[in-house]
Amino acid sequence: MTTIQPQTLRTFFAQSGLPLLEAKMLVEKVLGVTRAWMITHDTDRIADKDWALLQILVQRRLQGEPMAYIVGKREFMGLDFSVNPSVLIPRPDTEILVETALAFLEKYPTASVLDMGTGSGAIALSIAYHCPTASVVASDVSEAALSVAKQNALQLNQSVQFIQSDWFSQIPKQSFHLIVSNPPYIHPDDIHLSQGDLRFEPLSALTDFSDGLSCYRTIIQQAPLYLKENGALYVEHGWDQAESIRKILYEAGFSNISSIKDLSGIERVSGGVFLV
Ligand code: GLN
Repeated sequence: MTTIQPQTLRTFFAQSGLPLLEAKMLVEKVLGVTRAWMITHDTDRIADKDWALLQILVQRRLQGEPMAYIVGKREFMGLDFSVNPSVLIPRPDTEILVETALAFLEKYPTASVLDMGTGSGAIALSIAYHCPTASVVASDVSEAALSVAKQNALQLNQSVQFIQSDWFSQIPKQSFHLIVSNPPYIHPDDIHLSQGDLRFEPLSALTDFSDGLSCYRTIIQQAPLYLKENGALYVEHGWDQAESIRKILYEAGFSNISSIKDLSGIERVSGGVFLV
């Protein structure tokens, strides 16, 4: 393959075929520099070895691989999370779930919180970071995901307890004031699974291989055994699932059931309290 060898970072930005921001993120990754560094060094020559690696990363991006997997990180709730293809890439929508948990913790700052299916740890670690008085436990069935979450806990200097567990199987009973989860909820027939970023993400973190609601049934029906008195539960869900989830919550005996809308006015998070 004949390629033009750009002489400088500036020519690379002009020729990469990627949006400028993405091209800059790839350079930061390859050279190990900051955005601030690039502003003052944009006429620097790219060394041959760096250029070879940059070309590989540009090709990966042009083939659709998510930026977060190529650069190995994604920002969420103002924090940098390491990610790899064993975990879902944290989404801005999920900040609604974290904000709902933080609103609960404003009233009960020393509450114990469980995040189920933590993946990269984005939810659990953001809660721990923004409410240091809470005690946070995070679980996942995937050992590979837990190792990413543990790495993030170290990087963010947060002490969260991690438990490898298939939903509640390894979770101690009556232990939590608050349970949160962003479980796999995409219907297995949804065409989005074979499009865009989702193609590169772990399928078992995206779909329940059932009707999109099976994880909610498991979590919501068993949660009362794991909540302390008057504990709360909130889950993130898809744009058309709020009503079904409120019904599952109601049938499991939850009260004060409510749904919270995202910035586009779509119900994104639903939950309630288990009054005893
Ligand atoms: N919100 C994600 C999406 O639609 C799905 C996350 C999930 O299944 N928990 O891309």
